[in-house]
Amino acid sequence: MKLYYIDIEKTVFGENEVHEEGCYRLPKKEKMKYIGNFASCHTAVKRARKQFEDAVGCYFCTGQCS
Ligand SMILES: [Zn+2]
Repeated sequence: MKLYYIDIEKTVFGENEVHEEGCYRLPKKEKMKYIGNFASCHTAVKRARKQFEDAVGCYFCTGQCS
């Protein structure tokens, strides 16, 4: 299980990136929101989309989910 966070600011592509705990691309605390503790990035991104419809996995920390 890993902790997942979402960047509340959209990227230039109009997406909100979901990161795993410890990712070097995690934004500052005030610019990210805790999504939850999940077994896979697929579940985390799915959950994140309930609040941020343009949520996508970060290429660097979630690889297969980006
Ligand atoms: Zn990341």
